Amino acid sequence: MSDSPETQREPLTGSQTPTPARQREISERVERLREAVRSAALAAGRLPESVEIVAVTKYFPVSDVVAVASAGLTNVGENRVQEWSAKLQALSDAGDGELTAAHPAVAAELTWHFIGQVQTNKAGAVAAGADLVHSVDRLSLVKALNKGAARHNRQLGCLIQLSLDGQSHRGGVGLDAWQAVADAIAEAEHLQLAGVMAVAPKGVDPAPSFAEVQHVSAAMTADFPEARVISTGMSGDFATAIAYGSTHVRVGASLLGPRPVVG
Ligand SMILES: *Cc1c(COP(=O)(O)O)cnc(C)c1O
Repeated sequence: MSDSPETQREPLTGSQTPTPARQREISERVERLREAVRSAALAAGRLPESVEIVAVTKYFPVSDVVAVASAGLTNVGENRVQEWSAKLQALSDAGDGELTAAHPAVAAELTWHFIGQVQTNKAGAVAAGADLVHSVDRLSLVKALNKGAARHNRQLGCLIQLSLDGQSHRGGVGLDAWQAVADAIAEAEHLQLAGVMAVAPKGVDPAPSFAEVQHVSAAMTADFPEARVISTGMSGDFATAIAYGSTHVRVGASLLGPRPVVG
Protein backbone atom coordinates (compact mmCIF):
# COMPACT_ATOMS: atom_id res chain seq x y z
CA MET A 1 0.00 0.00 0.00
CA SER A 2 1.16 3.46 -0.74
CA ASP A 3 1.42 5.69 2.28
CA SER A 4 0.74 8.85 0.37
CA PRO A 5 -1.31 11.39 2.31
CA GLU A 6 -4.29 10.87 0.09
CA THR A 7 -4.61 7.28 1.20
CA GLN A 8 -4.10 8.14 4.86
CA ARG A 9 -6.77 10.78 4.78
CA GLU A 10 -10.21 11.09 3.46
CA PRO A 11 -9.95 11.45 -0.33
CA LEU A 12 -9.81 15.13 -1.31
CA THR A 13 -13.09 14.87 -3.13
CA GLY A 14 -14.79 12.27 -0.96
CA SER A 15 -17.77 12.97 1.24
CA GLN A 16 -18.76 16.59 1.12
CA THR A 17 -20.24 16.58 4.58
CA PRO A 18 -17.79 17.36 7.37
CA THR A 19 -18.11 15.17 10.45
CA PRO A 20 -19.69 17.03 13.38
CA ALA A 21 -16.36 16.92 15.23
CA ARG A 22 -14.45 18.40 12.28
CA GLN A 23 -17.08 21.07 11.75
CA ARG A 24 -16.86 22.01 15.44
CA GLU A 25 -13.07 22.14 15.33
CA ILE A 26 -13.02 24.33 12.22
CA SER A 27 -15.76 26.62 13.50
CA GLU A 28 -13.74 27.18 16.69
CA ARG A 29 -10.57 27.86 14.71
CA VAL A 30 -12.47 30.32 12.48
CA GLU A 31 -13.70 32.17 15.56
CA ARG A 32 -10.21 32.34 17.05
CA LEU A 33 -8.71 33.54 13.78
CA ARG A 34 -11.40 36.19 13.37
CA GLU A 35 -10.63 37.45 16.86
CA ALA A 36 -6.88 37.52 16.15
CA VAL A 37 -7.40 39.38 12.86
CA ARG A 38 -9.68 41.82 14.61
CA SER A 39 -7.12 42.49 17.36
CA ALA A 40 -4.34 42.97 14.82
CA ALA A 41 -6.45 45.41 12.83
CA LEU A 42 -7.41 47.43 15.89
CA ALA A 43 -3.80 47.47 17.10
CA ALA A 44 -2.84 48.90 13.71
CA GLY A 45 -5.56 51.55 13.94
CA ARG A 46 -7.57 49.89 11.17
CA LEU A 47 -11.15 48.75 10.84
CA PRO A 48 -11.47 44.99 11.38
CA GLU A 49 -13.71 44.84 8.29
CA SER A 50 -10.86 46.14 6.15
CA VAL A 51 -9.15 42.75 6.35
CA GLU A 52 -10.55 39.69 4.56
CA ILE A 53 -9.61 36.16 5.51
CA VAL A 54 -8.90 33.81 2.61
CA ALA A 55 -9.15 30.22 3.86
CA VAL A 56 -6.43 28.21 2.12
CA THR A 57 -7.85 24.71 1.67
CA LYS A 58 -5.10 23.20 -0.49
CA TYR A 59 -4.38 19.53 0.33
CA PHE A 60 -7.52 19.36 2.47
CA PRO A 61 -10.70 17.55 1.45
CA VAL A 62 -13.72 19.20 -0.08
CA SER A 63 -15.60 18.56 3.18
CA ASP A 64 -13.25 21.09 4.79
CA VAL A 65 -14.20 23.66 2.14
CA VAL A 66 -17.82 23.08 3.14
CA ALA A 67 -16.85 23.36 6.82
CA VAL A 68 -15.07 26.73 6.47
CA ALA A 69 -17.94 28.05 4.36
CA SER A 70 -20.47 26.85 6.92
CA ALA A 71 -18.43 28.68 9.57
CA GLY A 72 -18.88 31.84 7.51
CA LEU A 73 -15.65 32.16 5.52
CA THR A 74 -16.55 32.29 1.86
CA ASN A 75 -13.16 33.37 0.47
CA VAL A 76 -11.37 30.14 -0.38
CA GLY A 77 -7.84 29.77 -1.76
CA GLU A 78 -6.29 26.91 -3.73
CA ASN A 79 -2.88 26.57 -5.35
CA ARG A 80 -2.98 23.55 -7.63
CA VAL A 81 -5.22 23.56 -10.67
CA GLN A 82 -5.92 19.85 -10.79
CA GLU A 83 -6.85 19.53 -7.13
CA TRP A 84 -8.95 22.66 -7.23
CA SER A 85 -10.83 21.56 -10.39
CA ALA A 86 -11.69 18.28 -8.70
CA LYS A 87 -13.10 20.14 -5.70
CA LEU A 88 -15.09 22.51 -7.91
CA GLN A 89 -16.49 19.53 -9.73
CA ALA A 90 -17.36 17.79 -6.47
CA LEU A 91 -19.10 20.89 -5.14
CA SER A 92 -21.17 21.42 -8.24
CA ASP A 93 -21.96 17.79 -8.88
CA ALA A 94 -25.24 16.71 -7.34
CA GLY A 95 -24.81 13.14 -8.52
CA ASP A 96 -23.62 11.29 -5.45
CA GLY A 97 -26.92 11.24 -3.62
CA GLU A 98 -25.21 12.60 -0.56
CA LEU A 99 -25.28 16.24 -1.44
CA THR A 100 -27.65 18.18 0.72
CA ALA A 101 -29.43 21.28 -0.47
CA ALA A 102 -27.06 23.39 1.57
CA HIS A 103 -23.98 22.44 -0.40
CA PRO A 104 -24.81 23.89 -3.81
CA ALA A 105 -25.62 27.08 -1.93
CA VAL A 106 -22.20 26.94 -0.31
CA ALA A 107 -20.59 26.38 -3.70
CA ALA A 108 -22.47 29.26 -5.27
CA GLU A 109 -21.45 31.65 -2.52
CA LEU A 110 -17.77 30.89 -2.56
CA THR A 111 -15.24 33.35 -3.89
CA TRP A 112 -12.30 31.42 -5.30
CA HIS A 113 -8.79 32.74 -4.94
CA PHE A 114 -6.07 31.09 -6.99
CA ILE A 115 -2.84 31.60 -5.05
CA GLY A 116 -0.34 29.23 -6.67
CA GLN A 117 2.00 29.60 -9.60
CA VAL A 118 0.08 29.30 -12.85
CA GLN A 119 1.62 27.39 -15.73
CA THR A 120 0.66 29.08 -18.96
CA ASN A 121 -1.08 25.94 -20.24
CA LYS A 122 -3.32 25.92 -17.13
CA ALA A 123 -4.30 29.57 -17.47
CA GLY A 124 -7.55 28.71 -19.24
CA ALA A 125 -8.77 26.60 -16.30
CA VAL A 126 -7.79 29.32 -13.82
CA ALA A 127 -9.53 31.99 -15.89
CA ALA A 128 -12.67 29.85 -16.08
CA GLY A 129 -13.14 29.33 -12.37
CA ALA A 130 -11.23 31.83 -10.26
CA ASP A 131 -12.56 35.15 -9.03
CA LEU A 132 -9.18 36.58 -8.07
CA VAL A 133 -5.79 35.28 -9.25
CA HIS A 134 -3.11 36.27 -6.73
CA SER A 135 -0.09 35.08 -8.65
CA VAL A 136 0.18 36.98 -11.92
CA ASP A 137 3.89 37.48 -12.57
CA ARG A 138 4.64 37.65 -16.27
CA LEU A 139 3.39 39.08 -19.55
CA SER A 140 2.82 35.70 -21.17
CA LEU A 141 0.50 34.76 -18.30
CA VAL A 142 -1.43 38.02 -18.62
CA LYS A 143 -2.05 37.19 -22.25
CA ALA A 144 -3.11 33.61 -21.53
CA LEU A 145 -5.44 34.61 -18.68
CA ASN A 146 -7.07 37.29 -20.80
CA LYS A 147 -7.63 34.80 -23.59
CA GLY A 148 -9.16 32.31 -21.16
CA ALA A 149 -11.40 34.91 -19.54
CA ALA A 150 -12.52 36.08 -22.99
CA ARG A 151 -13.40 32.52 -23.95
CA HIS A 152 -15.64 32.25 -20.90
CA ASN A 153 -16.89 35.77 -21.36
CA ARG A 154 -15.98 36.85 -17.87
CA GLN A 155 -13.92 39.41 -15.99
CA LEU A 156 -11.03 38.14 -13.90
CA GLY A 157 -9.42 40.01 -11.02
CA CYS A 158 -5.63 39.89 -10.99
CA LEU A 159 -3.02 40.60 -8.34
CA ILE A 160 0.61 40.99 -9.27
CA GLN A 161 2.78 38.67 -7.23
CA LEU A 162 5.94 40.44 -6.11
CA SER A 163 9.17 38.56 -5.59
CA LEU A 164 10.75 39.89 -2.42
CA ASP A 165 13.82 37.77 -2.05
CA GLY A 166 15.02 37.27 -5.59
CA GLN A 167 14.01 33.60 -5.34
CA SER A 168 12.26 33.42 -8.66
CA HIS A 169 11.41 29.72 -8.22
CA ARG A 170 8.62 30.79 -5.88
CA GLY A 171 7.19 32.97 -8.60
CA GLY A 172 6.75 36.69 -8.57
CA VAL A 173 7.98 39.68 -10.48
CA GLY A 174 10.87 41.81 -9.24
CA LEU A 175 10.17 45.10 -7.52
CA ASP A 176 11.62 46.96 -10.50
CA ALA A 177 9.50 45.13 -13.08
CA TRP A 178 5.89 45.11 -11.86
CA GLN A 179 4.88 48.19 -13.86
CA ALA A 180 4.99 46.51 -17.25
CA VAL A 181 2.81 43.69 -15.93
CA ALA A 182 0.39 46.21 -14.37
CA ASP A 183 0.07 48.07 -17.67
CA ALA A 184 -0.58 44.83 -19.54
CA ILE A 185 -3.31 43.76 -17.10
CA ALA A 186 -4.91 47.20 -17.21
CA GLU A 187 -4.99 47.05 -21.00
CA ALA A 188 -6.39 43.52 -21.16
CA GLU A 189 -10.08 43.60 -21.92
CA HIS A 190 -11.13 40.76 -19.61
CA LEU A 191 -8.74 41.37 -16.72
CA GLN A 192 -8.96 43.79 -13.83
CA LEU A 193 -5.88 44.92 -11.98
CA ALA A 194 -6.82 44.51 -8.32
CA GLY A 195 -3.53 44.94 -6.44
CA VAL A 196 -0.45 43.10 -5.18
CA MET A 197 0.41 39.83 -3.48
CA ALA A 198 3.56 38.56 -1.82
CA VAL A 199 4.92 35.76 0.34
CA ALA A 200 7.45 36.89 2.94
CA PRO A 201 10.88 35.26 2.70
CA LYS A 202 11.29 32.37 5.13
CA GLY A 203 13.22 32.65 8.36
CA VAL A 204 13.61 36.42 8.62
CA ASP A 205 11.56 39.23 10.10
CA PRO A 206 8.73 39.74 7.58
CA ALA A 207 8.14 43.40 8.50
CA PRO A 208 10.61 44.97 6.01
CA SER A 209 9.14 42.81 3.23
CA PHE A 210 5.57 43.79 4.03
CA ALA A 211 6.65 47.43 4.20
CA GLU A 212 8.08 47.11 0.69
CA VAL A 213 4.85 45.59 -0.59
CA GLN A 214 2.89 48.45 0.94
CA HIS A 215 5.24 50.87 -0.80
CA VAL A 216 4.64 49.21 -4.18
CA SER A 217 0.90 49.22 -3.49
CA ALA A 218 0.98 52.97 -2.90
CA ALA A 219 2.79 53.48 -6.21
CA MET A 220 0.33 51.21 -7.99
CA THR A 221 -2.80 52.87 -6.62
CA ALA A 222 -1.42 56.25 -7.65
CA ASP A 223 -1.71 55.03 -11.26
CA PHE A 224 -4.58 52.55 -10.80
CA PRO A 225 -6.85 53.73 -7.95
CA GLU A 226 -8.96 50.55 -8.06
CA ALA A 227 -5.99 48.28 -7.42
CA ARG A 228 -6.22 48.43 -3.63
CA VAL A 229 -5.80 44.81 -2.61
CA ILE A 230 -2.72 43.90 -0.60
CA SER A 231 -2.57 40.11 -0.24
CA THR A 232 0.05 39.45 2.41
CA GLY A 233 0.23 37.38 5.55
CA MET A 234 -0.18 33.68 6.25
CA SER A 235 -0.68 31.68 9.47
CA GLY A 236 2.68 32.68 10.91
CA ASP A 237 2.79 36.36 10.03
CA PHE A 238 -0.69 37.74 9.38
CA ALA A 239 -0.62 40.13 12.34
CA THR A 240 2.54 41.78 11.00
CA ALA A 241 1.05 41.87 7.51
CA ILE A 242 -2.04 43.63 8.84
CA ALA A 243 0.19 46.26 10.48
CA TYR A 244 1.55 46.90 6.96
CA GLY A 245 -1.78 47.31 5.23
CA SER A 246 -2.75 43.75 4.28
CA THR A 247 -6.33 43.60 3.00
CA HIS A 248 -6.34 39.82 2.38
CA VAL A 249 -4.60 37.37 4.68
CA ARG A 250 -4.21 33.85 3.25
CA VAL A 251 -4.49 31.40 6.12
CA GLY A 252 -4.28 27.62 5.92
CA ALA A 253 -2.64 25.85 8.85
CA SER A 254 -4.21 28.05 11.54
CA LEU A 255 -7.65 27.08 10.29
CA LEU A 256 -7.27 23.50 9.19
CA GLY A 257 -4.25 22.17 11.07
CA PRO A 258 -0.92 21.02 9.66
CA ARG A 259 -1.03 20.11 5.99
CA PRO A 260 -0.17 16.61 4.89
CA VAL A 261 3.16 16.62 3.05
CA VAL A 262 2.50 16.21 -0.64
CA GLY A 263 5.48 15.37 -2.84
C1 LIG B 1 -0.16 27.56 1.44
C2 LIG B 1 -0.17 28.99 1.20
C3 LIG B 1 -0.68 29.87 2.17
C4 LIG B 1 -1.19 29.43 3.54
O1 LIG B 1 -0.11 29.15 4.38
P1 LIG B 1 -0.33 28.76 5.93
O2 LIG B 1 1.02 28.89 6.51
O3 LIG B 1 -0.85 27.36 5.96
O4 LIG B 1 -1.29 29.72 6.51
C5 LIG B 1 -0.69 31.22 1.86
N1 LIG B 1 -0.23 31.69 0.67
C6 LIG B 1 0.26 30.88 -0.28
C7 LIG B 1 0.75 31.46 -1.57
C8 LIG B 1 0.32 29.50 -0.05
O5 LIG B 1 0.80 28.70 -1.00
